[in-house]
Amino acid sequence: MFLLNKLDRPLLMGAALAATGWHYRKKKGDQERGPCPFHGSSPRSVSMNVNRRIGKFFCHKCKKNGDAIDWFRAFNNMDFVPAIRELHRLAGISIPEGED
Ligand SMILES: [Zn+2]
Repeated sequence: MFLLNKLDRPLLMGAALAATGWHYRKKKGDQERGPCPFHGSSPRSVSMNVNRRIGKFFCHKCKKNGDAIDWFRAFNNMDFVPAIRELHRLAGISIPEGED
């Protein structure tokens, strides 16, 4: 099983958000809130909560949640391994061969 490097999580979450064009509408501390791209919320909604520091997201409406890979996969309808590779590439992080 592949575990995301703890230190890479903010970078990977940032890359996933940037690649999918997500921007927060409100921010308090580490908590960014904005529209949820997964249940078709209004652009003014703040149901989606993202914490880049720990690399997790959670929607209060549709309950979709996960990490940067989950976000990226859901957007691009990708399998796990290609999504990991692509997201690391976008974040500029090398991924050791043989870890998947
Ligand atoms: Zn949602």
